[in-house]
Amino acid sequence: MDVNNYKYGGTQNLVYTNNSPETLDRVYYHMYFNAFQPGSEMDIRLQNVADPDERMFRAGQSRISVLKEDEQGYLNAMSLKQDGKDVSYSLEGTVLEVSLDQPIAPGSSTELTMEFEGQVPVQIRRSGRNNSEGVALSMSQWYPKIAAYDFEGWHADPYIAREFHGEWGDFDVKLTIDKDYVVGGSGYLQNPEEVGHGYQKPGTEPKKVKGKNLTWHFKAPMVHDFMWAADPDYIHDTLQMENGPALHFFYKDKPELKENWKNLQPKTRDAMEFFNKNIGPYPYDQYSVVQGGDGGMEYAMSTLITGERSFGSLVGVTVHELAHSWFQHLLATNESKHAWMDEGFTSFISSLCMNEIMDQNKENPFENSYKGYYALVQSGKEQPQTTHADRFDLNFAYGISAYSKGSIFLSQLGYVVGQDKLMASLRKFYDKFKFKHPVPNDIKRTVEMESGLELDWYLTDWTQTTNTIDYGISVVSGQEGKTQVTLERIGLMPMPLDILVVYKDDSRETFYTALRMMRGEKDNPYPDIKRTILPDWPWAFSSYEFSIDRSLEDIQAIVIDPSQLMADIDRNNNIWSNDE
Ligand SMILES: [Zn+2]
Repeated sequence: MDVNNYKYGGTQNLVYTNNSPETLDRVYYHMYFNAFQPGSEMDIRLQNVADPDERMFRAGQSRISVLKEDEQGYLNAMSLKQDGKDVSYSLEGTVLEVSLDQPIAPGSSTELTMEFEGQVPVQIRRSGRNNSEGVALSMSQWYPKIAAYDFEGWHADPYIAREFHGEWGDFDVKLTIDKDYVVGGSGYLQNPEEVGHGYQKPGTEPKKVKGKNLTWHFKAPMVHDFMWAADPDYIHDTLQMENGPALHFFYKDKPELKENWKNLQPKTRDAMEFFNKNIGPYPYDQYSVVQGGDGGMEYAMSTLITGERSFGSLVGVTVHELAHSWFQHLLATNESKHAWMDEGFTSFISSLCMNEIMDQNKENPFENSYKGYYALVQSGKEQPQTTHADRFDLNFAYGISAYSKGSIFLSQLGYVVGQDKLMASLRKFYDKFKFKHPVPNDIKRTVEMESGLELDWYLTDWTQTTNTIDYGISVVSGQEGKTQVTLERIGLMPMPLDILVVYKDDSRETFYTALRMMRGEKDNPYPDIKRTILPDWPWAFSSYEFSIDRSLEDIQAIVIDPSQLMADIDRNNNIWSNDE
């Protein structure tokens, strides 16, 4: 890495094993930095989308469209050999298409050796040089990255905006860079006594290195990405957790940052403990929180975040990115196809975590997700969650769909199957699918097996359509000392209903109607309150009647879903109150 002209070059030896049952006669590499050139797909998309990302669009212009040659990014293959023989390849935007010399048979391996040269672009999105907070090098998406091949075939998506899907591998990285630079990111440093910069054993002095440069040797076993960042002015702190990984923190040596970045350290430990307990144990011995990038982005064993924030925001972004270690780095879903599974599940678990470690004590920690989702429905711009992440018409629609509606997928599922069953399902999901590439059906089946309920209707309506939920109380009438209640289903999406009845003497009881197609009932979510299980509600029926064994005069109010975890788009008709 030449820190003066931002050019770099290297050699990549890739031992690639074909674990599929098909013979492969080609492979693809992602060459992400080529997106940062005028006229790239990323540039053109930026110019055409109605609500461009502000980080990438200034003064009415795509920032990529005005990059000068020495500010652009590129990553080029200079040569490529398969087991020592030249192979032919061509670069198409951000994807290198390679025709192999010898096809790779199922179960066999081949060695691909590429010489590459790159230039780090001015920081525009995720990676780059000299970000808005003055971090010299934020190096993600920097190396030739083999595309993923799985039961769906190749996933050689162009880099337009979002996001990533990669193969597991053992990374062994040697990085040579100006010796004044401090490097943090993925991987365990193999030569700390040579490097120093806070990596050496406390109380020891690093060896003196001759020359201008230093070579850092990292190993990262079983990861699907490798990020590093470097700056000559990083402070490097570490916090060794008891029975847990070492946490590393890299931040610019600016007086106004210190207090927040010191206080962040025990909060990162608390979050790690929360996720270990609620999802499953973090399997690596290290995690690094690195100031850099353009907001917050998750990588293997590390994150790049901007650091000039309020304390709450700094903890919030760190907790979110750390949660991605589980929902993306260990449960490695295809983010382009199922963004709701990584962004949504991450938002869900980080909302719970923030509520606990920051003592927020919110009754509904997911409230903002629901607000966002309702706003999207109101806007009429919603597209199904099955839309490819690059093909949403608006960034707004993508963001709410992935983060908010994705988070509600789980919080609302807790309403459907019960909170304990949901949390137990998440732990099972992690246990079964860590270091794999789960797909939507895998979370559905996991929750089905844990709860004993059928959930096909939930997965299809919530993730593959824009059907909405709207139930209401339409008629309440007294009759011979009893009360008749008529409910109606207005929205297309089916849901089971919890109905709370509050009496004038302050006593309460609940009624529950499961969907017939759930083939079962959840446990009583309010064990202290008497619950009556009503007959199942078959979805096709648009209304449903039941009777309460007390007179109308005794009733104060009737409420559908007092938890408000069911994303009912019109809550006005969920409450009936006896105002006479
Ligand atoms: Zn995220």
